[in-house]
Amino acid sequence: MPVSGGARLLEGGPIAEEIRTAVAEDVASFRTAHGRPPALRVVIVGKDAPSTVYLERILRGCARVGIDGDFVELEGEATEASVTATVRALNDDPTIDGVIVQMPLPPTIRLRAVIDAIDPAKDIDGVHPLNAGLLRLGYDGFLPATAHAAIEILRRSGIEIAGRDAVVVGRSAVVGMPAAFMLVKEDATVTVCHSRTRDLAAHVGRADIVVVAAGRPGLITGAMLKPGAVVVDVGINVVDGHIVGDVDFASASAVASAITPVPGGVGPLTNAILLTHLIRAAERQAPLVRTTSGTHPVPSGGDR
Ligand code: NAP
Repeated sequence: MPVSGGARLLEGGPIAEEIRTAVAEDVASFRTAHGRPPALRVVIVGKDAPSTVYLERILRGCARVGIDGDFVELEGEATEASVTATVRALNDDPTIDGVIVQMPLPPTIRLRAVIDAIDPAKDIDGVHPLNAGLLRLGYDGFLPATAHAAIEILRRSGIEIAGRDAVVVGRSAVVGMPAAFMLVKEDATVTVCHSRTRDLAAHVGRADIVVVAAGRPGLITGAMLKPGAVVVDVGINVVDGHIVGDVDFASASAVASAITPVPGGVGPLTNAILLTHLIRAAERQAPLVRTTSGTHPVPSGGDR
């Protein structure tokens, strides 16, 4: 097991590989049952460098497991109506199982309008209010993939969550809040900190588990941590041309018992988790036919 400065290194890559192997088997079974691979479409409005990198990672992840992944590109001047119409057309296409809209959108397009247009059954990144509500109530909806990855890295690394004090730094709808709800569901006692938190160090210093998603490089240092704390760093920041997290890795890894690296921690897992959501969406939506001998998938092109 890799160790850094005394802390166990929680790497996302090997876990992601395990997940992809399982997903590839599910994809092959789906293809046999339905005569087509599960399909994902990513809607992008204008391309910039970070979104291109993110998109390429998703499409590469799809290709590795046999998922039909592709993107639908709208020009940078696309209107809200054209983006929502594109999303609705994908909703209505029975051969498309999952839809992601790449963020950020141009400022002229209301995020809410686009998110509301996504069919919750195809919302594999858990952004639609229905899926957010299901998470809040502890039901089994689609979780935002990054938050899901942050908690999954703890689970799959055998870190005990139940009964422990957890602090989540960040309260965004896509990362901080869903991570906090998932930790509550796992029976942790959870505190959510944000930019108006008065004494961040005091809260962090009491935590057994610290999940950081603030977008502020070096926000959490070793001096703030309780000795033996487990640290999940979700942050992705570019500093002097290098990707760093929100945690000062050198000082934190000397105090923590386990820590995720950046890059190489939550990031690689996020992508693999998204693929598990897609196969689940595909299996849930695939048409079924009931016969006297049981329930069977309708072959592609069959009557519904
Ligand atoms: P966001 O929407 O900007 O939210 C940041 C949160 O951090 C806000 O709740 C903010 O508080 C809080 N915050 C900011 N400064 C703070 C401070 N000094 N002390 C305490 N809290 C502070 O960002 P996000 O979308 O959640 O993303 C968070 C980070 O995760 C970013 O670095 C992003 O790049 C990264 N990310 C990683 C992945 C991945 O796959 N690993 C995916 C998505 C995002 P307020 O609410 O008070 O403003």
